[in-house]
Parts: sequence; C-alpha cells; structure tokens
Amino acid sequence: MGEACDKFANIIIDISHEKVDRLFQYKVPTKLIGHVDVGDCVQVPFGRGDTQRKGYVIELTDEPNWDVDKIKEISGVVTDSVSAEDISIKLAAWMKSHYGSTMIAALKTVLPSGKKMKRQVHKFVSLRLSEREATETYYECVRKKQKARERVLKELLDNPGERIPYELITEKLNVASATLTSMSNAGIIKIDSEEYYRNPIAGTTSRYEDKVLSPEQQHIVDTVRKDFDEGKRDTYLIHGITGSGKTEVYIALIDDCIKRGKQAIVLIPEIALTYQTLMRFYRHFGDRVSVMNSSLSPGEKYDQMERARTGDIDIIIGPRSALFTPFPNTGIIIIDEEHESTYKSETMPKYHARETAIELSRLLPDGAAVVLGSATPSLESYYRAKKGEYHLFELNRRLTGGTLPEVEMADLREELRSGNRSIFSRRLQELMEDRLTKGEQAMLFINRRGLAGFVSCRSCGHVFKCPHCDVSLSEHRGGRLVCHYCGHEEIRPKLCPKCGSKYVSSFRAGTQQIEDEVKKFWPTARVLRMDADTTRTKGSYDKILSTFANKEADVLVGTQMIVKGHDFPDVTLVGILAADMSLYASDYRASERTFQLITQAAGRAGRGEKKGNVVIQSYQPEHYSIVAASRQDYISFYQEEIAYRDLLRYPPISHMMCVQLFSKEETEGMEFATRLRAIMEQQKVQGAVFIGPAMAPIGKINDVFRMAVYAKLDDYEKLVTLKDLLEKYIKDLEAVGKLRNISVQFDFD
Ligand code: ADP
Ligand code: ZN
Ligand code: ZN
Repeated sequence: MGEACDKFANIIIDISHEKVDRLFQYKVPTKLIGHVDVGDCVQVPFGRGDTQRKGYVIELTDEPNWDVDKIKEISGVVTDSVSAEDISIKLAAWMKSHYGSTMIAALKTVLPSGKKMKRQVHKFVSLRLSEREATETYYECVRKKQKARERVLKELLDNPGERIPYELITEKLNVASATLTSMSNAGIIKIDSEEYYRNPIAGTTSRYEDKVLSPEQQHIVDTVRKDFDEGKRDTYLIHGITGSGKTEVYIALIDDCIKRGKQAIVLIPEIALTYQTLMRFYRHFGDRVSVMNSSLSPGEKYDQMERARTGDIDIIIGPRSALFTPFPNTGIIIIDEEHESTYKSETMPKYHARETAIELSRLLPDGAAVVLGSATPSLESYYRAKKGEYHLFELNRRLTGGTLPEVEMADLREELRSGNRSIFSRRLQELMEDRLTKGEQAMLFINRRGLAGFVSCRSCGHVFKCPHCDVSLSEHRGGRLVCHYCGHEEIRPKLCPKCGSKYVSSFRAGTQQIEDEVKKFWPTARVLRMDADTTRTKGSYDKILSTFANKEADVLVGTQMIVKGHDFPDVTLVGILAADMSLYASDYRASERTFQLITQAAGRAGRGEKKGNVVIQSYQPEHYSIVAASRQDYISFYQEEIAYRDLLRYPPISHMMCVQLFSKEETEGMEFATRLRAIMEQQKVQGAVFIGPAMAPIGKINDVFRMAVYAKLDDYEKLVTLKDLLEKYIKDLEAVGKLRNISVQFDFD
C-alpha cells in the first residue's frame, strides 16, 4: 500500500455514495510515483474529449486492469483543495487504515446516501385560541380524559407564543396526526407549513431566556472560547452528574461557534433524543437546527445533508452518523454521553465516533473543538484526560435541586437463605407496597435480556441451547424456547432430555417474568414493559415512555433502554433486580458496563421534589463496580478499574486488536487463525502479546463458526502495521482463489 511500485490508481470521478463502486483506472506517471496516496484529490483526463476532471484515489495497485497502453495518466495532484468532499475522502482514508476496512466501505460510511427529495414541507403547531380560552379547553380535556389533546395543549400553554415542530408532537409526545387535524379543524390549534429552502431564517426569533451560567459552567465556556481565539483546537471532557448543567454548556458553546460563522455537530445516543432535550435546542436555535434519527427515510436524510451543505442549517443533532454532516465550516463537535457503546460502529469500518471526531477536527482547515460529556465517562476518555491529552472539567453540583436518592443493597444469597424465593427482595417488596399506595411510580430494571431466562435442569444442570448458535435458549410465553440470534424455536420438553428429571425450569429473570411477577404480587398495579420485544415497531418506544410520563402506568419494567436520559419526576423508587448479571458477560469491559448501568439506573429515582429510594439486588454486593455505583462514586471506581486494566494490559493502558474469523468449517477456520497468529508472531514486535485462537463468546451463528485471535500492544500504530500485513496476506490468497470459505474482520479496542 502506497509503496513506490504502485503504478496504477483506481479513481472515482463523480463522488457520490451510489457511484463509489464505479472506479476508473489511471497510470501514475513516474514523477508522481510515491507522491500519490489513497484519499488524494487528483486531476485526470476523462471521457472522449479528455476534459480535465477532479477525481479521488481509492486504491493503488501494481496490477493493470486492462491493456496498459490504453490506460490514461493522472495529470496532477490537487493539493490546495479543502472542500467538504475532500475532507470526507481523507477521513475515509484514515478510517480505512486506522480500523481496517476497504476504502469503499469507508467511503459509503462518510458519504451521504439517498436521492434528492422534492422540496420538503416542514410543519409547525401553534395555539389559535387565546391563552385563557386554551386553558379552559385544557381543563375540559382533562375532565373528558382526552389525554392526547391534553398533552398538546399543555405543551403549547407551557411555551406561550411558540411554534412546536409537528414531528416532535407526533413522535415524541405520541399524538396521532388525526388528533392534530381535528384540533385544527375545531379552531384550537394552527398548523403552519413551510417549505425548506425558501424561508431559511423564518422562526428563528428565539424566545429562549438565557440562564445565567454558574461559575463552573462559565469557566468551561471561557476556556474553550479562549483556546479557540488563540487557535488552539483541543478535546475537552466534561465529567458531570446528570442535571449538573452540561446541556446548558453545550448550548452556550454552540452559540459562540455560530456567532463565528461556523457550524456545530451534536451527537446524542438515539435513545436519549427526548422531547425535552430537543425542545431546548429548538427553542434556542429555531430553524437553524435539524434532528437526524433513524425513523427518517434515506431521502429525508439526504435532504438534511443538502441543507447542511448549502448553509441552510447550522446545527445537526443526531446519532453517530451525524458526524459525517458536510457542513462548510464545522467549528465544534459535541458528543454527549460519550461512554455509550452506540458510538462504536458494529459494521465495517468499526469506527468509534470519538476518535473519528478528533481526526475530523484535525483534517478541517480551521480545526474544531471536540467536547465530550458524561456522568460516567468511558475509562479511555478519563484516562486520556488524566494524562493531559484531553482537557478535563468537573461539574459536581446538581442545578435542579432535588436530593440524591437513598441507595440500599439487597444480598440475594441471603434472601434465599431466609426462605424468600421470589425475585423481589423483602426490602424492595416493602417499598413497592409503599409507593403503590401513595400513587407514586416505580421502575424495575434488569440488566439484559439475552442472559436472563435461560432454561436448565435443576437436577443435572443441563442447559437448553440453540443447535445453530451455541447460545442458551430463552423461554417465552406458551412454553416456547427461542434463540435470540437466529430465531430458532422449539417446545419446552416436560422431562429433561439428559436425565429424565421433571425439574426443568427457566432462570426467572427476564423482563416478561418480572412483569408477570409484578402482576401476581400487586394485581391492581398498571405495568408497562420495555425491551427489544415491545419496541420493535416504529413509535412504540416513544409511546411507552409517554404513557409512563403521563402517569397512565405505575410500574415500568425494562432493560437498559429505560435508564437513559429520561426525567420522570414522579418516579421515587428504582429496583435493580440482578445488578451483577452484566458481570457475567465475557469481555474486559463487563465491570465498566455494570458500573455505568447501575449508576444511570439509580440516577432515575428522585428527580422531582420527592425523595427517592434505590434498591440494588445482587449476588455479589461486595464487587467494587457495584459498591462504587451505589455511592455514585466515579473516581473510586475509576481507580480500581484502571489498576485492573493496567495489571492485565487491557485498553486504555494498552491497545488490543481482535482478528475475527468467520468460517463454515470449524477446523479449517481454526487452522487459518493459527496461521494468522504465527504470521504476527514472526514479526517479533517488542512487547506484543498474542491470545488465541479461541471460539468467540457466541461460537456459531446461523451455522457459521466464529473465532478470534487477539493481539495486545502498547503502540497502536504497530498494531495497525500488523493489521496491514494480515490484510495483504489475505488479499493475496483471495486473489488466487485460495480463501473461499473464510472471511476476516478487524476490530480495535
Ligand atoms: P445535564 O445536561 O448535565 O443533565 P442540564 O443542562 O440539562 O444538565 O441542566 C439540568 C437542569 O438545570 C435543567 O433543567 C437546566 O435548565 C437547569 N440549569 C442548567 N444550568 C443552569 C443555570 N446556570 N442556572 C439555572 N438552571 C440551570
Ligand atoms: Zn437433567
Ligand atoms: Zn440460533
């Protein structure tokens, strides 16, 4: 790659997501050999008339695709071009080499896809009645139990004189379009339509009252501003508990950025794109904001990218992929809840939004500030901040008032010893009774669906597994055993197939079992359940949340989905049912994830005026991640955890590359994995440690075997060199048709 012998360049001319596969080959003239790199912008003669066109180098090779004499030559390298396009291509080239993927896959990730839409119409809802009339109508709706109308009116009355984006009301407040139409027909509300592109600055008159920032908040804004003025482009980490004012800081920073004529990218995990958060941004920035989420069609996404490119908007809020918004002049990139695992891509290239944002900032001609925020920062980020690579800010005060909840532990081993066989500890039962009588709300949290609900024989220990995937089957209603990877289903046998005993039962801790138990214990309680099953259809996620927020249910049972970023002021009890469940996951981040989940879940209680309680049920209450989480003590968790990572040379202390193999044949795959390990070992890289090959935690999915070899090394660049070496080896084998049944992927840290 990039070696002096590469005489041919595969070039893409009309750069677009749809055309990345159409490559044209050019000769690299002798004088340019060694000066042309993947990602470079070049001038080439194109078409019959040989008109000069701009193109991008996607691959370099020494193999001509066809008759060498007919291949045209590159005219020259364009060095002074810094369009949004150039930067995207350079970023893709970096992702390709940093994470290991093809250039095509990297390009498809950074380039907007989809077709141009017809001009899109944007709708807003506002009040038509006077405030007094609207208030009367509101109470009428309350009396008639017209819940949806009630919600709309409450929002409009709470924000007098404002227009609220139509989609926000339908999606986040869960109000049907038909309801809005009938309210409009009845003269209660007004629905305005506006065409994008025509009216770029309409509605920007901000009615937002700026809060006076606290000294701690002001210090952050001042520091970032000063650095910017001095031409310094840093990465900043804000460690601040929920409610400590991080979002307010983001808004002030974005304000500053926009005043300089630059644009802002705000990344938020999709699950935390709540109505309240979005409204705060809309209220402050009006139509200059656009929100990206997965429910948008490709056309709508493309349209947003166009609006960003043409300067129609200044701020984009969205998940990981919003990072690739082609603004002309990005000045700040904010990553909220930076510890979230959704910031890492699960498909090739397996990039992390945080590192990619920092690289993007480097590529931008004028640079951008990168601001990370979290109540429980990832070990990586906190470690970097401690080392001085990032600038660290701490926000320790809750600005909302409200007291921290009282946290208690329940030892499940002891519960069992004293004869309590239910999934609720005695203390949790007691508090549930109390809250239900008082009409307050409770949330019950279980760590993860796949791990729970497995069925085993209590006599011989036989566990029912999927014949295709090597994972345990989960029990669903009607005695069905289901595989959560491939969907395999079978009927639960009455007797154990191994020993014939009749004591076959499920480990009773899935969300559905908890829901059933709650109904058994407290038959009058209204229970909602949120997990992957109940949120499969579009809008169901927001629907469950708004039903709970509107107090149409008493108990919300759920997986990690329920612990993110929602404010339910009437929740005064949180039960974490099996806190250590995620400790059994087999990777080095298990403790970190457990700490984050418990901290976040506990943080859900007592957000309003009333005091909250948290009960953490666990089989290992003495584990440091659980102890630290119960005290909301990030620093002491960090110290324990970093010592453990240091001892075992895990990231962030060292770096780790996982070479994943997918093979139809188990032995063939294992042999090849062993060969790859040997190739890496032959390099005799100092300090390198190799592990494996081993079967992946889930060894087989859909009849394809999965195995992995790991390499640990302090120097990331040297790991990348090993990766390049393997990549070349594999490519050469593939070229001669010697690697048909095995595919390989790379994954870093
Ligand atoms: P975080 O993003 O850290 O959870 P927020 O920015 O959402 O915190 O702030 C929490 C609450 O405190 C919000 O209701 C916000 O309006 C309020 N708040 C933030 N900063 C201030 C301030 N300087 N003065 C008064 N209230 C503030
Ligand atoms: Zn048995
Ligand atoms: Zn399966």
